[in-house]
Amino acid sequence: MGLSRSDLERLADDTYKGRILQSSVYCERCGYNLRTLPYVYTCPECGNEYNARPLKMKGIFLPHSTRMPVGDIAASAFSLGGALLFGINGIRSADTTRIVIAGMFLLMSLPFLWRAYRGLRRLAHTRAVARQIAMEEGE
Ligand SMILES: [Zn+2]
Repeated sequence: MGLSRSDLERLADDTYKGRILQSSVYCERCGYNLRTLPYVYTCPECGNEYNARPLKMKGIFLPHSTRMPVGDIAASAFSLGGALLFGINGIRSADTTRIVIAGMFLLMSLPFLWRAYRGLRRLAHTRAVARQIAMEEGE
């Protein structure tokens, strides 16, 4: 009989289920301090389900996990710049090849733009939660 990955996850969760968080760990959604609550539980402030077991850390605020999406912003700027350059050039010279290339650059920029947008939103959320934590800890 083999143990599946989810069986192992459940076993690992069970070993932490009765334990109480001894140090300050914060809710990912609202920044509530979860100290003195169980490792695997629901945030009493916002209802966010969390798992603070080491290696799992689901629903837990991790300030270092969110960075400025520099690569996606640069790739967006590059592909939008290419689209603009070929587009303007193609329209001015009535060159369909350049207009098609502009379209390809534009298409290429979409996933980067989406990822940059998601990254920036995540960053804004993380900063808001960090401010919330700082405010509550300062009281
Ligand atoms: Zn919460």
